Amino acid sequence: MSKAKTTKTPVHAFAKTRKTFKTASGRSGEFYSLPALAKQFPNVNRLPVSIRIVLESVLRNCDGQKVTAEHVAELANWKPKAERTNEIPFVVARVVLQDFTGVPLLADLAAMRNVAAAMGKNPKTIEPLVPVDLVVDHSIMIDHYGKKNSLDLNMKLEFKRNEERYQFMKWGMQAFDTFGVVPPGFGIVHQVNLEYLARGVHKTRDKATKETVYYPDSLVGTDSHTTMINGIGVVGWGVGGIEAEAGMLGQPVYFLTPDVVGFEFTGRLREGVTATDLVLTVTEILRKEKVVGKFVEFFGEGTSQLPLPDRATIGNMAPEYGATMGFFPVDEKTIEYFRGTGRTTAEIEAFEAYFKAQGMFGAPRTGEVDYTQVVTLDLGTVAPSLAGPKRPQDRIELGNVKSQFTSLFSKPPTESGFNQPAAHLHTRHVVRAHEADEKPAKDAPAVLPGAPRQVVEMTGNRPMLEAAQSEAASQQPKVGDTSLGNGDVLIAAITSCTNTSNPSVLLAAGLLAKKAVEAGLKVAPHIKTSLAPGSRIVTEYLEKAGLLPYLEKLGFAVAAYGCTTCIGNAGDLRPEFNEAITKNDLICAAVLSGNRNFEARIHPNLKANFLASPPLVVAYAIAGTVLKDPMTEPLGKGKGGRDIYLGDIWPTSDEIYALMKYAMNGKAFKANYDKVATEPGKLWEKIKGVKGQVYDWPGSTYIARPPFFDGFTMEPKKLVSGVKGARAMALFGDSITTDHISPAGSIKESSPAGIWLKANGVGKADFNSYGSRRGNHDVMMRGTFANVRIKNLMIPAGADGSREEGGVTLFQPSGDKMFIYDAAMKYIAEGTPTVIFAGEEYGTGSSRDWAAKGSQLLGVKAVVARSFERIHRSNLVGMGVLPLQFKGKDSWESLGIKGSETFDIELADEIKPQQDATLVITDAAGKSRTVSLVLRIDTPIEVDYYKHGGILPFVLRQLLAA
Ligand code: SF4
Repeated sequence: MSKAKTTKTPVHAFAKTRKTFKTASGRSGEFYSLPALAKQFPNVNRLPVSIRIVLESVLRNCDGQKVTAEHVAELANWKPKAERTNEIPFVVARVVLQDFTGVPLLADLAAMRNVAAAMGKNPKTIEPLVPVDLVVDHSIMIDHYGKKNSLDLNMKLEFKRNEERYQFMKWGMQAFDTFGVVPPGFGIVHQVNLEYLARGVHKTRDKATKETVYYPDSLVGTDSHTTMINGIGVVGWGVGGIEAEAGMLGQPVYFLTPDVVGFEFTGRLREGVTATDLVLTVTEILRKEKVVGKFVEFFGEGTSQLPLPDRATIGNMAPEYGATMGFFPVDEKTIEYFRGTGRTTAEIEAFEAYFKAQGMFGAPRTGEVDYTQVVTLDLGTVAPSLAGPKRPQDRIELGNVKSQFTSLFSKPPTESGFNQPAAHLHTRHVVRAHEADEKPAKDAPAVLPGAPRQVVEMTGNRPMLEAAQSEAASQQPKVGDTSLGNGDVLIAAITSCTNTSNPSVLLAAGLLAKKAVEAGLKVAPHIKTSLAPGSRIVTEYLEKAGLLPYLEKLGFAVAAYGCTTCIGNAGDLRPEFNEAITKNDLICAAVLSGNRNFEARIHPNLKANFLASPPLVVAYAIAGTVLKDPMTEPLGKGKGGRDIYLGDIWPTSDEIYALMKYAMNGKAFKANYDKVATEPGKLWEKIKGVKGQVYDWPGSTYIARPPFFDGFTMEPKKLVSGVKGARAMALFGDSITTDHISPAGSIKESSPAGIWLKANGVGKADFNSYGSRRGNHDVMMRGTFANVRIKNLMIPAGADGSREEGGVTLFQPSGDKMFIYDAAMKYIAEGTPTVIFAGEEYGTGSSRDWAAKGSQLLGVKAVVARSFERIHRSNLVGMGVLPLQFKGKDSWESLGIKGSETFDIELADEIKPQQDATLVITDAAGKSRTVSLVLRIDTPIEVDYYKHGGILPFVLRQLLAA
């Protein structure tokens, strides 16, 4: 590195830390130097790398207002073990969005522009201050599968279903200067972020000195798995849309100073062990270490030799192990990855020189950094594994899957079992094919063998969506009569950002498929097989390696570039399968290379969902059941009736390594991503966006003006803190996920949202999913707590102890049973506030701001739980809903709350973070008792948000006042 020299920046409190650095080819730039800051705060030299990157942001953005010199000093003096009371104001470099969460965020921005215009202000006052990229990846479904033209047909349906949303995105692209869209068909947001959006270091021109100042990439994203980017040394994590919105409008992201858990890898992975096996092991270990709200930073010799895609896979699952981040420092492997993925020489040079100048290049060695706690894993001990059948942290070694499923089959739900009579385990049921499956539909278009994989053009005279969907059924592989039993695999999906960005596991899947086909193995046609790569590059290298035809032969034809099965867009099962499962209470399985397997996420009728590496997904598709042990039993019969075992077709590391050259081709990456601007796809080009700076909200059941700014005034209304005379809307158990609160998947016809859609002229075939309708609050508030699996324990148990599922409640005081939405409207009409009671980890799962927005729109004023998931808690505050926590061993069950009582929540006159609050419970006879709670407003800025009625009005007031 060059010699450092000091330049003058008079207004900055730490001006002396501004230094210059030089790249290998002699270009120079300025930066806020942490080594220089360490002269004043020697502790900086012992800080975890992740904390240093946050410190750089705090240092650079120190303006004496939002970020003060005290903030810099506090973080520079971070101690590994200390009480965490201070919040860090973190100004991020950019924001990434996926389309499910991005559309409502855009709708909020558009509504803010309406307010600005109505108040006579320039609508452009509302403009993202940092670059925002929205990647459209969540909308495609697996309607077609198993055929070469599946991708084309699925995209055609996607565009038909989502035209109004895509028009709205196009409006956003032209209305906001810093809002970019990666159109459908390019890949999954986290993989696109890794391969393309992340450019290493950012630079800006200092207005005062005219110098170019460099700073590291950092971001927040409106998706939990944003942490995948931690694999390349970028600090970032998932936040709710409302927080992201504030971040893009110039607010720092505030978070409590974290503990940092150092995770040391030693040794090497053994032959045959995949990155998926490793991440499931890491998830299991860290779940037990309780890392919620903490940073995890990987270090040590084993870390240095881990390939970049494996690091990204581990970063990806941070939400599953509960951490805010799973961070890997920048090193040679990161630079190698940047070269192999088409970043420019100038970008790579600046990236490397910057991190070296900051003293942040390379994973720390043992003892170099002070961590709060250190966890160690010898990579040599990791074994092939799956996780499931209900939670990602429940890892099962491959050889134990059969026995685990067998044992859970008849265990009670309290032990995560399926509560079935053990004698039923091996019973099989004949399933007669529906007639439609036997005869091709008359109007099904001819599909030529070997039809191109690229997207077909959407023409004006295409059949309507219903016809397209019946076309989907007619295009499915023919099945005929079959039989179904417990443990049968009905969905086998190579899907998700976690695994489809990792060439080693995708090449392994392709090699396994090749060996399986050559051995004469087949996949039963009734299994819904799909390959949904996280980016087009995957298809390119699978093709070049000559492996795609083998995957296709086993049904794993490319069906989409997007989230698909991982987000519950698996498409439906055959109707006769749904009937057989529900009629016989069958526990059938999905095996997917995803990261989440919560109830009803993958498919409402598949209760056992296993996460596995892509090659194991293919292997289980061949086996057809989880009741076969792949370690000891043959997967199937090959040529000449020979038994073929997993070991016969499992690829070696050398075979995978020999094909790696196809996966890291910088030119191919560049050529692919250049097309975002030059060839976004005919379907996308045909979408017509509304023009203008202010959106005029044309009638739509997808996009509607959100009501959050109705009655907006520059001065917040006088705060009535606490809650009086509330009724309980629901009593929930542990681990209520955001998907329980605000489902993303299919909309039931008989649900409040389904009834509303039908009343608004939308046929069942056009319902699409809740996720795709997040731009319309009328659908979303009706969908709140509408998950078909949610259990409101206020409804008494049945005679056999079973609990009713679905979003219903008992309206009080009458006790009438009705949909939660209907009860909410009645409570709002009579002016009665409502409260939710819950157990541990309330709001766990994907970041989903509608879980908080929907609660607010249903009139919920407080949620009282044993504990909260990080993002959902802050989203509740962001929407003006109070999160409160029971103390010690208290729970609604231990307090004997039944749901028929009334509740008051009393707060101190001056609200302070994490202060005590009082819950007053009054029973039907008028007898009252009190319980002490902790207010989970965690930071001073959250107090302000609450006083303003939420973060959105708070930010809007600031912007309009500026
Ligand atoms: S976890 Fe699944 S749904 Fe979420 S971004 Fe990744 S692929 Fe998409």
